[in-house]
Amino acid sequence: MSEGTTIAVVGVGLIGGSLGLALKRSGAVTRVVGVSRAETIDRALSSGAIDEGVTYEALEDGIGEADYVFLCTPISRIIELLPMVMGAAAPGSVVSDVGSTKQAISDVARAHRRADVHFIGGHPMAGSEWRGVDAADPFLFQNAIYVLTPDDDADDASVDGLAGVVSSTGARALILDAETHDRVAAAISHLPQLMATTLVGMVGRLDAPEGIPLKMAAGGFRDMTRIASSPYEMWRDICRTNASAIRECVSGFRDALDDVVSRLEEDELATDFAFAQSTRAEIPTDSKGFLSPLHELRLMVEDRPGVIAEIGSALAEAGINIKDIEVMKVREGEGGSLRLGFGSGEDLASATRLFEARGLRVLT
Ligand code: NAP
Repeated sequence: MSEGTTIAVVGVGLIGGSLGLALKRSGAVTRVVGVSRAETIDRALSSGAIDEGVTYEALEDGIGEADYVFLCTPISRIIELLPMVMGAAAPGSVVSDVGSTKQAISDVARAHRRADVHFIGGHPMAGSEWRGVDAADPFLFQNAIYVLTPDDDADDASVDGLAGVVSSTGARALILDAETHDRVAAAISHLPQLMATTLVGMVGRLDAPEGIPLKMAAGGFRDMTRIASSPYEMWRDICRTNASAIRECVSGFRDALDDVVSRLEEDELATDFAFAQSTRAEIPTDSKGFLSPLHELRLMVEDRPGVIAEIGSALAEAGINIKDIEVMKVREGEGGSLRLGFGSGEDLASATRLFEARGLRVLT
């Protein structure tokens, strides 16, 4: 990337704020302009997520000098704002978005295309349960897959430029077409969300003495339904903008489940279990996916010998098992952060209390 790169972030929330922080930290951009509500702008300025900010009324001014514009609002709002953003973007600039579904957004961009502005959709596959700029995290995208969905006729230099920008956050750029993205996302993210939500709802309504089903529900049920705690706000837009792929997926899953159920008593499920086991073993563990498999926290630590040993000992004394540990980029003399994964929400809560009591900064 050339020096003097300006980016504009429209909607400075968890993802937009994290982009601002990560890009500034990487040195890949020199100026981040935020477009948000006045209150958000104030918070984003004080956390350093943006260098300057304007409200939505001044959107055209906010994005007019940007080399890259990232639309980071909820999907429905991205769709509303995109025509105006395409109209106001600087000649030669790249407009992108971070929405969790891609086809509906790409369709709008195509309808408002300009020869001198390049639209390339994007989806950073990283997130958290938290919302808003206060939850923004400069390390959110480290090791995460960042899908880019350029049209077939997209300008190669713009795609390379955007891939360079998103990679500088520590993410890994993956180029896909929007239709494939949405179909895969339906299978590995949207269907599991609806399954978890429906399953927990069904158990919650089971005809059994009050409280008993949930008391009995542990292990597998808990693991499989963690995402049933997701807030609906983001999922409303995802369901609306990917309804046909989700329907197709649900129908395929129903057929597969019916097939398994029809063979329940015939001792014929060994191959189904074996195939599932081997397929699951292929899920990469070194990158974040749509579903985070563990209960994780990030811990800000000093850059000095013995830090990891102290953390490990403290957890061992408290009987808390570390399921996964990752040293995020350590910044010489400045400290760094560790990502720790635990097997349960209880362990995560105990570890958080333990670290906070020691004065360490914990992000969950
Ligand atoms: P967020 O923390 O709620 O941030 C969205 C920001 O958009 C808000 O801070 C808000 O700032 C602004 N906004 C504008 N119009 C809004 C409206 N009608 N309702 C709510 N906020 C509005 O959400 P996020 O998690 O960053 O998600 C932003 C986008 O990233 C979504 O399109 C989502 O699909 C995508 N995404 C999310 C995740 C995830 O796990 N969270 C992962 C990947 C992609 P102002 O109040 O200042 O306007």
